[in-house]
Amino acid sequence: MTVNKFDPAKAKQTTTLETPVKVIEQQHEQAAKDGQSFDIGSRIGFISLGCPKNLVDSERILTQLRTEGYEVVNTYNDSDLVIVNTCGFIDTAVQESLDTIGEALKENGRVIVTGCLGVKDDEIREIHPNVLAVTGPHAYEEVLNQVHQHLPKPEHNPFEHLVPDHGVKLTPKHFAYLKISEGCNHRCTFCIIPSMRGDLVSRPIGEVLSEAERLKAAGVKELLVISQDTSAYGVDVKHKMDFWNGAPVKTDMKTLCEKLGEMGMWVRLHYVYPYPSVDKVIPLMSQGKLLPYLDIPFQHASPKILKAMKRPGQAEKVLERIQKWRDICPEIVIRSTFIVGFPGETEEDFQMLLDWLEDAQLDRVGCFKYSAVEGAKANEIEGQVDEDVKEQRYARFMEKQQVISTNKLKAKIGKTMSVLIDEVDEEGAIGRTFADAPEIDGMVYLNGETNLEAGQLVDVKIDHSDEYDLWASTI
Ligand code: SF4
Repeated sequence: MTVNKFDPAKAKQTTTLETPVKVIEQQHEQAAKDGQSFDIGSRIGFISLGCPKNLVDSERILTQLRTEGYEVVNTYNDSDLVIVNTCGFIDTAVQESLDTIGEALKENGRVIVTGCLGVKDDEIREIHPNVLAVTGPHAYEEVLNQVHQHLPKPEHNPFEHLVPDHGVKLTPKHFAYLKISEGCNHRCTFCIIPSMRGDLVSRPIGEVLSEAERLKAAGVKELLVISQDTSAYGVDVKHKMDFWNGAPVKTDMKTLCEKLGEMGMWVRLHYVYPYPSVDKVIPLMSQGKLLPYLDIPFQHASPKILKAMKRPGQAEKVLERIQKWRDICPEIVIRSTFIVGFPGETEEDFQMLLDWLEDAQLDRVGCFKYSAVEGAKANEIEGQVDEDVKEQRYARFMEKQQVISTNKLKAKIGKTMSVLIDEVDEEGAIGRTFADAPEIDGMVYLNGETNLEAGQLVDVKIDHSDEYDLWASTI
């Protein structure tokens, strides 16, 4: 089994049985070095499909299972039961989820399904009638109840340290996703996430900050703040006051960013909806509290298409705001995603998008060809675009962005930058600058630097670049 890297074009990240097990095995080794022991309990195989948000759900389920003494194993044969955490974002993800359930049933036979696709219980059972149970997204309690029904809780000594304080993490030790809310109040017509995950529910800010502190104590160097809509954090609870370390704190995006920014880790914001409230966090970036990096999906630039998508529709104003952000924080890196071939998109709309892209000069860009998602409102919009037209537009879009990206990276040659090392092998080290999020952006290659360690922050001089990556040497 292999671990696939996040590919925006496919909109999925796949973590197979190996990743959870590898991470948990490392924790076992560390515990053994610390003189602690682990119970061998009932054995569970775990497959996590989908985006980083799903990965965080997987971590929560695995943390609870480990706390209860279950063992997580890496082959179907060794598992007494397999949990598949599914993705239902687009049709290819649905198909992958169904195929994975099928494989787990064939290889093991005892399968519990959870995650986004879980809302389509009937559909899953029609194809795979033998699954033991189906639960929906972020239904942690329900998954655990189902596990208890089908695999009795192992007996274990509650005083033994089965999980670290920060829980089970499926990412390498030096970075971690911090999920601040669940669900979404928007109703973008191409998206079925609100129907699967419900309206926005923000986690109490005190709880989020305490989790961030535990992650810092566990050695995390970079926090990736995720949600469906990070800029809406706290809207559902009317930005109420909570408590953290004995002091009152307001549940809102700016306060959260300020507090996280004081913890001494890289803090990176993902999935920020393009609302004016975003302006408030840009000064924190220029003050060095947050990484000057904004992952903000604009989706399109044609007002007509944005309206059909039910997204904020004033591309001109967005350009002005981007310019304002750059005035306040000149080094800001903007990452975005776009959809081409949305129903009703004419050549004129598409050209508008290309022109906008030229004007906006974004640093990192992902592009999706529109694909119908069952249950999405966009399916009812007239003027579905032919597949070959989508393909051509996708290629033209990527070609345009490639030129922008190449020039942006070329401008970095000769500069000194800090790089967080992700991995080291016999050829050298691979890391990222503040401008690159793990799995989705570019890399910095440090050839021959075999003495560095993952999680180390080093200063480098940029020597070369191509369309997406950099090469550098330590200074
Ligand atoms: S903002 Fe739009 S695309 Fe994002 S989760 Fe909400 S409805 Fe879906």
